[in-house]
Amino acid sequence: MSVVRIERVFKDYLLGEQIVQAVNDITLSIEPGVFLAISGPSGSGKTSLLNLIGCIDKPTSGKIFINDEDVTQKSADQLADLRAHSIGFIFQTFNLLPVLSAAENVEYPLLQRKDISDADRKKRVDYFLDIVGLSKYVHHRPNQLSGGQRQRVAIARALAIQPAIVLADEPTANLDKATGKEILRLMKLINQHLGTTFIFSTHDQKVVDVSDRLVKMEDGTIKALGIRNEENQWQLIRVRNLSEMAAGDEQE
Ligand code: ADP
Ligand code: MG
Repeated sequence: MSVVRIERVFKDYLLGEQIVQAVNDITLSIEPGVFLAISGPSGSGKTSLLNLIGCIDKPTSGKIFINDEDVTQKSADQLADLRAHSIGFIFQTFNLLPVLSAAENVEYPLLQRKDISDADRKKRVDYFLDIVGLSKYVHHRPNQLSGGQRQRVAIARALAIQPAIVLADEPTANLDKATGKEILRLMKLINQHLGTTFIFSTHDQKVVDVSDRLVKMEDGTIKALGIRNEENQWQLIRVRNLSEMAAGDEQE
């Protein structure tokens, strides 16, 4: 079973009169519980792909399955519901609400969940702020916290809904090296203990170093897939997408 399945997905944006093919025929299966890095140069389509997986955006064509459910057929309300239950987001710039305290920021996505009682909500906020080591900072506003602490609040916020998947778009890009490492260690720990699937987009070699799956993107397509061999080194498999194969066949 896969937690995310992407089948021949394309995403075009219209920029003025020009069509930008941000995602160009991607097929990919992601197993539950993995720590997966999507690497590639700026503009290669990493964020676009994450936004499609996170149901923030819809593909131009192709299908996306989350827990074997076809999300491309769902209405906006159904997608909002799916996100509220199953998908946590962590952004490069943290995206905390500045007027809310750390605790209120973590609580925020839980307020959409009618199935969670007031008492359970408070418990989850305390629990996840404790997990990220911020019990002493529950009443602090984002501007009273360091970059690393803000990203920890964002991690607690993403985890509080107890999602199947956490999507993190360059989560270490605005952190210094040591803080980035610490944040990564924390996410890896959560991945191993709670079994949450993590999917990162990244430029950062540190993220690739702690991942157990790698997707290398270029120009909107997957160029290579990486898995770890027995010595824990990357084993890369070059990928040609179905469009490229068809074009190749025609030339032969
Ligand atoms: P990455 O995250 O790897 O830097 P993106 O997914 O942000 O790449 O962008 C991929 C391509 O799609 C780029 O050429 C970018 O300019 C373009 N793009 C992304 N979002 C939009 C948008 N909303 N409108 C138009 N073009 C976009
Ligand atoms: Mg990006």
